[in-house]
Amino acid sequence: MSYDKVDVPEDGEAITLADEETGELNVPSNPIIPIIHGDGIGTDVGPAAQKVLDAAAEATGRSIAWMRVYAGESAREKYDENLPEDTVSAIRSHRVAIKGPLTTPVGAGFRSLNVALRQTLDMYANVRPTYHLEGVPSPVKNPEAMDMITFRENTEDVYAGVEWEAGTDEVEKVRRFLEDDMEVADVIHDGPVGIGVKPISEFGSKRLIREAIDYAVANDRDTVTLVHKGNIMKFTEGAFRDWGYEVAEEEYGDDVITEDELWDEHDGEQPEGTVVVNDRIADNMLQQLLTRTDEYEVIATMNLNGDYMSDAAGAQIGGLGIAPGANFGHGRCLAEPVHGSAPKYAGEDKVNPTAMILSGREMLDYLGWDDAADLVRDAVEETIASGQVTYDLHRQIDGGEKLATSEFAEAVVDKIDELA
Ligand code: NAP
Repeated sequence: MSYDKVDVPEDGEAITLADEETGELNVPSNPIIPIIHGDGIGTDVGPAAQKVLDAAAEATGRSIAWMRVYAGESAREKYDENLPEDTVSAIRSHRVAIKGPLTTPVGAGFRSLNVALRQTLDMYANVRPTYHLEGVPSPVKNPEAMDMITFRENTEDVYAGVEWEAGTDEVEKVRRFLEDDMEVADVIHDGPVGIGVKPISEFGSKRLIREAIDYAVANDRDTVTLVHKGNIMKFTEGAFRDWGYEVAEEEYGDDVITEDELWDEHDGEQPEGTVVVNDRIADNMLQQLLTRTDEYEVIATMNLNGDYMSDAAGAQIGGLGIAPGANFGHGRCLAEPVHGSAPKYAGEDKVNPTAMILSGREMLDYLGWDDAADLVRDAVEETIASGQVTYDLHRQIDGGEKLATSEFAEAVVDKIDELA
């Protein structure tokens, strides 16, 4: 395939799909990997993560042939468009990629490029692990109690972009349809109104929940918690919960039991080797994360809840500078940190690249490069534990050495060389 709007590397081999059904990949030892540095602080954390991932690959006898692809500000500057088709097709065909944050204007302007990428590639699972690294300061007393992974549905919900602007003919048409045809009375106030739609499908919910349960079964986790606001949004979030229990009851035999079965049939004693599926209402869940942190291991939830929850959970393990993530679907992985483009710090060589580096670790894990992934985690952990940290962590500890983004990346690279 030839591209006009990407920087094609001189060497490297393409990753290919080995098995359509399982999504298993053929990964060469020098794969071509597309990277979007991102907007704002993406210009700082993108290159920093690249350096660390290169070092981990090299230390384990491999190399990464980076294919620079463009979206957001960099694409506008170079090609006068937000998201070139070449960027999407390079990620689609190379299967494993990493991106930094992309800015989305509030209230007007273009729609989120992040959402567009996830939707176009149907990367339906946004997976956000939240674990504590030794030495990372936290606002809570026992940050090590947090060892959770959130599976957030990525293609539906109020994020789907089905909404109409106040004052337009379209929104008045939708208002008339709701009031005249659907008999929605006394709900929408007179005067200008914006209206959005929240699609939650059985298909979208079940495939996401399956990913979460499969992960829990494969990784010996005890519980999967369905997080929803189904008491209020009965036919969307309530349906998500019900479809979740259906998957648990119908597709996993004795490996998975529901919380009701745990009490009705096992007196609350979880049988060895099983996963218990339970559910919590989203507002309660946000306080449970603080008060009963270690009771939650794997979360399956919808798009908006997942976004809120993973930022809040990220704060407990050291903040957005630390929290990694990745999007998955159809044998593809697009790693990306939880945080945004923090424009006020853009280009200052100041922010913490750990979230982007650890997102890269998720990507290495997906490639099956477990040794390189472990090396990255260990090197980051030991660097931080030694007191070498960026501003965000430095302001929370006594002493320590405050490093720039690029200096922190170099310290992690040195640690990789030491550990390898
Ligand atoms: P943000 O960019 O995540 O930044 C919020 C705050 O979090 C920062 O001011 C900083 O806090 C802290 N922070 C974030 N990243 C950090 C890092 N690497 N190291 C240290 N601290 C970090 O959130 P936002 O300001 O709400 O959003 C800015 C833009 O990003 C928006 O356009 C939004 O749409 C976009 N966004 C993109 C993505 C994505 O690309 N996936 C995700 C979220 C938001 P302190 O100032 O307190 O140190």
